[in-house]
Amino acid sequence: MNRRDLLKAIPLAAAAITLAQTSQRRYKVVVTGGHPGDPEYACGGTIARLTSAGRDVVLLYLNNGEWETSAAIRMAEAKKAGEILKARPVYADQKNGHAIVDNDHYQSFQKLLATENLDALFTHWPIDNHPDHRAIANLTYEAWTQLKRRFALFYFEVSDGEDTVQFPAPTHYVDITSVADTKKAACYAHASQTPDFYYRLQDTVAAFRGFQAGTKKAEGFVLQLGSLSEFDLDFVTAAEQPK
Ligand SMILES: [Zn+2]
Repeated sequence: MNRRDLLKAIPLAAAAITLAQTSQRRYKVVVTGGHPGDPEYACGGTIARLTSAGRDVVLLYLNNGEWETSAAIRMAEAKKAGEILKARPVYADQKNGHAIVDNDHYQSFQKLLATENLDALFTHWPIDNHPDHRAIANLTYEAWTQLKRRFALFYFEVSDGEDTVQFPAPTHYVDITSVADTKKAACYAHASQTPDFYYRLQDTVAAFRGFQAGTKKAEGFVLQLGSLSEFDLDFVTAAEQPK
């Protein structure tokens, strides 16, 4: 069954990325975010499900988050979040609030991704109120094209209205009901970043996406067309069955 047939066979509202695969292959997934915490809030549930299914996940942050809080504190928080999600934090060494998108940075970012033999990548939806988020979506897209579109590229939503703007209807949903507590713990690991406010905002999004997907909580993604990876074909199937 090819991907088109598979998608045709599954009602969109029920489509989900199921991560309890039996494949022997150890898929590698990178999640790029503007700051420490963005990948965790946007898709911490998906990350938890991927790693618990034996997938290797890297959290690639554009910068170390240093602003009002020191880099040491932000990176310690990210380390803790990574331990909770069983994912590895990596930094692209830009400065918080001063993202640069130019030829040199396109190339250095591409080199960073080229070292990871990845199957899929999740990044910010490119229309976003934070310039660092727009920057990493831009850097990621360019790397994806330069690396011959060989990995599946998904866009995530984070703090809708506050950050992500005009996120369209998701093409894929991941049921995160069973890992909601793990995701919450990873978000709260970023204790310096007012998690009470931001987690409630993102959890409302998860409840809405869950409502759409027929589960309690879900994360929604938009798949970039044109990927040559088979990743999404293997991972798209029905939502988790209610226990
Ligand atoms: Zn951010």
